[in-house]
Amino acid sequence: MVRVRFWGTRGSLATPGPTTLRYGGNTSCVEVRTADGTLIVLDCGTGAHRLGQALLASAGPPVRGHLLITHTHWDHIQGFPFFAPLFIPGSQWDLYAPGGRGHHLEATLAGQMEYTYFPVTLEQLGAAIRFHDLIEGELSISRTQIVTHYMNHPALTLGYRLESDGVVIVYALDHEPHGRAQPGKGDVGPPAAGVPTMHREEQRHIEFLAGADLVIHDAQYTVDEYPKKIGWGHTPAEWAVDYALAAEAKRLALFHHDPLRDDDALDRLVDLCRQRVVSAGGRLEVFAAAEGQVLELEGQGGRAAPRHRQVKAEVTDGVPAVAPTVLVADDDPTVVQLLVESLQPDGLHLLTAADGETALRIARSERPVLMLLDSHIPGLEGVDIVRSLRGDSDPYFWSVPVVLMTAKAGPENTAAGFAAGVTDYLPKPFAPALVRARVRAWLLRGDASTGRRM
Ligand SMILES: [Zn+2]
Ligand SMILES: [Zn+2]
Repeated sequence: MVRVRFWGTRGSLATPGPTTLRYGGNTSCVEVRTADGTLIVLDCGTGAHRLGQALLASAGPPVRGHLLITHTHWDHIQGFPFFAPLFIPGSQWDLYAPGGRGHHLEATLAGQMEYTYFPVTLEQLGAAIRFHDLIEGELSISRTQIVTHYMNHPALTLGYRLESDGVVIVYALDHEPHGRAQPGKGDVGPPAAGVPTMHREEQRHIEFLAGADLVIHDAQYTVDEYPKKIGWGHTPAEWAVDYALAAEAKRLALFHHDPLRDDDALDRLVDLCRQRVVSAGGRLEVFAAAEGQVLELEGQGGRAAPRHRQVKAEVTDGVPAVAPTVLVADDDPTVVQLLVESLQPDGLHLLTAADGETALRIARSERPVLMLLDSHIPGLEGVDIVRSLRGDSDPYFWSVPVVLMTAKAGPENTAAGFAAGVTDYLPKPFAPALVRARVRAWLLRGDASTGRRM
């Protein structure tokens, strides 16, 4: 039996007060206790404060635990300096978060605890802390097998799939559906029941959730609110239902509640989502995660693991010695400028082209580690550039990530491109922070698939 307790369910900002009493106002923090007693904490938002107090009160110090952080936006780490077990000598904590290519969790958390922000530094914490930087892949903690998967968010973010004693729990937060352009542009239809789209990344996301006993999913918006929030990195609750239905999950906990959604509005959202399950003929159990709520899950066993590369999730990458070369090709100079400005802070060597022939020539001569190409660039269509590269005699071009940028990222427009070897589609218009995080994910996946290490 695996025990799950929600200590913080709110997204973005803690919202205490009379209108959030039932579902809670603290930000993301979930306690998972496996059958062998291993303590795994998912995220360290403000909910971690009371979890820390409870751990000290129930078991007493020292406390041994593992903290899996999805990403280091404030709402997921704000409870970290207030998590009491970290102050106790003799306690031991393993901390995990997305990293690689010179990004280290330890440095980020130390930054949060600099003198300007907090009176105790990271080094002054009493517990023994080990830091683990993760990419997409697999790791294990005691008898729990964990698969990590990149979410679509304006910061590099990992979702976690935990399998322990036959119980599967997926924690998929701070995720925006892939391939959705702005409604009204002609490529986003009304949300259909079942699979939202067959964009390849959507398919991977569904595989990540497949067959779970419990999916804890980002459900910050509603479908009605979403058009004004595209690029903010969150999922409408109705589409979280579609994901869970397509994944044939058993239970869905709506999570990362919007700070403006009070208890009554969450009740209405749950009703709406349950109706959606009924109209789809599904048996999915849907609820909105509430602070203090406890679930006890029994193992089913016999489920197929998601199709995932056999890659070790933990990395020890340093900063690349040579700036990685990335090609950006678009005939719209404002798009090129936006991408250059968004990506330059990550220390990339950026090459640009305004037409297809030039892009292909630069690709062959400079061998960039990633290419972002406008799908309708003058001269050669983006997909033709991809076909040409995938057919090259040099094996380097068979797998190097090539991403097409398009205002039409609906499945009817992307299927042929994926078949031709397009790595991914980036819907236009894009938010600079979102594309920056996607680029990090593509580079890290590229490193993993080619065995390249910085
Ligand atoms: Zn968040
Ligand atoms: Zn976030």
